[in-house]
Formats: sequence, C-alpha cells, structure tokens
Amino acid sequence: MADTLPKVSGKLTRQAPLAPLVWFKSGGAADWLFEPKNLADLQAFLAECDPAVPVMALGLGSNMIVRDGGVAGVVVRLGKAFAAVRTLDNVTLECGGGASGILVSSTARDSGIAGVEFLRSIPGTVGGFVRMNGGAYGGEVKDILIDCDVVLRSGELVTLGNAELHYSYRHSALPEGAIVVAARFRGRSGEPAAIQAEMDRISASREASQPLRSKTGGSTFKNPDGYRAWELVDRAGCRGLVLGGAQVSEKHTNFLINTGTASSADIEALGDEVRRRVKADSGVELEWEIQRVGRS
Ligand SMILES: Cc1cc2nc3c(=O)[nH]c(=O)nc-3n(C[C@H](O)[C@H](O)[C@H](O)COP(=O)(O)OP(=O)(O)OC[C@H]3O[C@@H](n4cnc5c(N)ncnc54)[C@H](O)[C@@H]3O)c2cc1C
Repeated sequence: MADTLPKVSGKLTRQAPLAPLVWFKSGGAADWLFEPKNLADLQAFLAECDPAVPVMALGLGSNMIVRDGGVAGVVVRLGKAFAAVRTLDNVTLECGGGASGILVSSTARDSGIAGVEFLRSIPGTVGGFVRMNGGAYGGEVKDILIDCDVVLRSGELVTLGNAELHYSYRHSALPEGAIVVAARFRGRSGEPAAIQAEMDRISASREASQPLRSKTGGSTFKNPDGYRAWELVDRAGCRGLVLGGAQVSEKHTNFLINTGTASSADIEALGDEVRRRVKADSGVELEWEIQRVGRS
C-alpha cells in the first residue's frame, strides 16, 4: 500500500505499534499511523487517499480494544495543531478535536463557564467525547455540544449540528471514517471557585470508585435500560474474574484490566465470558461500550 498513500507534511508511520497509544497497552500495529501537521494536511491526505483504504480516528485510546492483528488502513491521531481551546463568548468554548477533557474543563473554569466540569474526569479527547457522547456525573456531550467541524473520508470539511449527530447513550451517528477536528460547547455562567469545587468533588468520587491507575478501557458495557452493568456483572459472580492476563476489576466490576501481560484477545474473551455469565444469571444481554477495532 506504500505507493498508494499521498505525500503529507505531517508524520506518516508504517506498521506503527498502537499498544503504547491506548490505555489497555495491548494490541497490534496500524498499517499506517498519520499525525497530520494541520487541517489542510489532513484534508489533502484524505482527498487523495484511495477511498478503499479504511480510516479510523484515535484519541487517547481510553475506550478502545485494539485487536492483536492490528488495524488495517490508516489510523489518524490529532496532535498539537488540533489541541487548542479558546472562549468565543462568556459561555461558549471552541475546542480542537485533539484537546483533552482536562484542558477543556480547566479553560472553562478559568473563563467562568460552568456545566463542563464533567469533562474533567473523562480521560479522552474532544473527538472521542463527540463520537462517544461521553458523559459522567449527570452531564453528557449532547447537553453541551452546539456543533462540530468534521473532515469526511472524502477530505471535505463540514459542520454538523448537535441534532445531526442523533445522539443516544454513548452513541452518535458520526459518519464512518469522519474525523472531528473541532467542537463548540455551550455552558453557563459560573464562579471559578464553585466550578473548581465541583471538579474536585467529581475527581475525588472517581478516585474512590474506579481503577484509574490501571491499564483499562473505562466502562466495558453500556448500562442496559433499567439496570446498572456493574451490578449485573457483580451479581453474576464475575468480580475479580481472570482470563489470561486480563481481569474484571475488583474495585469497579464494569472495568476490565490488563494486569500486565494480557493480549487484546484475553481482554475481549474475558468481556465475552462476562456477557455469557450475566446472560445466564439475569437474562440480560450486555452490549459492549468499548470500541473493539482491528484484526483478531
Ligand atoms: C479510567 C477511565 C474512565 C472512563 N470514564 C468514562 C466516563 O465516565 N464516561 C464516559 O463517557 N467515558 C468514560 N471512559 C471512556 C473514554 O474516556 C471515553 O469514551 C472518551 O470519550 C474516549 O475518548 P478518546 O479520545 O480516548 O477516544 P478513543 O478511545 O481513542 O476512541 C473512541 C472512539 O472515538 C473515535 N474517535 C476518537 N477521536 C476521534 C476524532 N477526532 N474524530 C472522530 N472520532 C474519534 C474512535 O475512532 C473510537 O471510535 C473512561 C475511560 C477510562 C480509561
């Protein structure tokens, strides 16, 4: 495929290991990893790239199992040029698709914009939040997103409004292969000290309940209607369950952990075993929240 890829001004790496770039620290390599220099570079590359080549965005890999056979085609990772956050007015933020939740929420605090505190605690980038409808502690991206700028697989830059993303729980209708390069969020006026206090409350609560310093992928399964996934997993006797180097967290049963030597196959097989046991115990079919990508 080497000859078929267009020239870029950013960085294009062949057979790029993805394990170091994702939270689980497991999985294979991307056929190609593209880190565009800027928006024009990304657009030109996608416009010229054979439409048959699959393209996938990667944020901080905090919600992803990259399978051991690696990812076909091109994985796009947004760097510095896409990581800025600025205020547009006293309640509106414009954020690069690669900006972290920490930067977005702390810029909001410094500018007296409340309602964005929940992003402080979700590891990830704005692109990942927009695609996944990231949410926590009563807030969700769908509540604050005005619109986002997206580079389509064709290289075309379009702006999609909130309604066009047809948000539901941890899901958006973002087109396949589309890369979110910027998003505008609307909060409300607030006092920086009160915003900081809310961010501190959220951080402390999370620290107490989740394995934040582990190799993990966040919540493994979506909460089914009327249930909490962690309770179903616990009730099915899966707390601490081990498969190869993978384990169901003792601290939070909706988190899977790489204890050090897990392959992605171990992690995925453990998730499927949990689904099987929960189905047998409670009759409920758990649906994966974690994105599983690549070749087995
Ligand atoms: C400890 C821990 C706690 C977590 N807690 C929460 C929580 O409370 N709430 C919650 O919602 N999630 C939580 N997560 C999951 C995760 O943080 C979110 O899903 C986050 O939105 C993923 O962002 P990311 O940038 O790392 O995306 P990735 O994990 O890299 O990718 C996730 C998906 O988003 C797509 N994507 C990434 N960037 C872009 C882009 N620029 N354009 C288009 N698509 C893109 C990817 O292709 C993939 O489909 C947690 C994860 C961990 C590890």
